[in-house]
Amino acid sequence: MRPAWAEVDLDAVRHNAALLREAASPAALCAVVKADGYGHGAAPVARAALEGGATWLAVALAAEGGELRDVGIDAPILVLAEPSPPEMDAVVRHRLRCAVYTEAGIDALAEAAVGAEPVHVHLKIDTGMHRVGAPLEDLVPLAERIAGHPSLVLEGLWTHCAVADEPDNELNVLQQERFEVAVGALADAGLRPPMLHMANSAGAIVHPSMRYDLVRCGIALYGIAPSSELAATGAADGLRPAMALKARVSHVKVVPRGDGVSYGWHRLMTEDTVVATVPLGYADGVRRRLSIAGGQVLIGGRRRDLAGVVTMDQLSVDCGRDEVAIGEEVVLIGAQGDERITAEEVAALLGTIGYEIVCGIGPRVPRAYL
Ligand SMILES: *Cc1c(COP(=O)(O)O)cnc(C)c1O
Repeated sequence: MRPAWAEVDLDAVRHNAALLREAASPAALCAVVKADGYGHGAAPVARAALEGGATWLAVALAAEGGELRDVGIDAPILVLAEPSPPEMDAVVRHRLRCAVYTEAGIDALAEAAVGAEPVHVHLKIDTGMHRVGAPLEDLVPLAERIAGHPSLVLEGLWTHCAVADEPDNELNVLQQERFEVAVGALADAGLRPPMLHMANSAGAIVHPSMRYDLVRCGIALYGIAPSSELAATGAADGLRPAMALKARVSHVKVVPRGDGVSYGWHRLMTEDTVVATVPLGYADGVRRRLSIAGGQVLIGGRRRDLAGVVTMDQLSVDCGRDEVAIGEEVVLIGAQGDERITAEEVAALLGTIGYEIVCGIGPRVPRAYL
């Protein structure tokens, strides 16, 4: 194996699932494993989450659902965005549940499902995220349209929050009021489905009223706080990070005082400096600007600055005057000795969120499951 890998702690996933399950109960836990389980590996994570107490899975694409079915996972799988008409065959073939919110989507799915087991659909209403979902005024006509197709079953009504990770933002209240109006409208029309759901990880953790019948948790399952604001409340404290990014030192040299390292020589050494080369680069998802942003790694249980700009396949670490050996472990995300670098820390340096850091770890990095 290449001396660079992402370690995925499936015990942590099981633990996080159990914690979320317990917190959200009696709502069921839906483990969101889209984008290859946020970079952790969809199938192993899905199995661990189910073992931990999740009873549903969710993906972004019908093809992602198909991959889980292909490895023998039988739990209900919800596709979170309405697939395009050509993808509806895969929804039916893989026995997926499916978001719908347009007439064309409903008709295409109904058509694809003729002659098969009826497909359970979850009608999505847009309450303020304004990404996908039906407007309130279309809701009853769409539900009636679903009811008119014998190959479809309306199982859920749901929506998605724009700012659940900002616990005090009033938009959360507004979105939930709009959702309640939608529920009432379907109930008045005699079309209220058995399941309601609204909460992502942040919603599940800090907005109890949003839990309804199901919580759709992604990031918390991987042990990452949805936002620094939410982390500051302590609400995400029991979660355990599942991902570590590690490598082994591939080369060591002393760079003389006055020289720089890597493309551009962005920084000149102020003394003769031991520089360790690490075989991970921006093609693996270690962002090029990490060196300029103040990124660090762990070697020998200590934090070390990057010595120069991250290149495509390799990066360089300033080890000062310390002796470093080829083959020593380097931690980019995770713990070593008493030190830990979290995905959230890396995200903060880069002006992004933990989600993007773990999703960005590329397919070239082998995953090692613990
Ligand atoms: C990705 C996604 C989720 C999971 O969100 P987290 O913040 O990772 O918990 C839930 N619902 C929808 C619609 C999503 O797209």
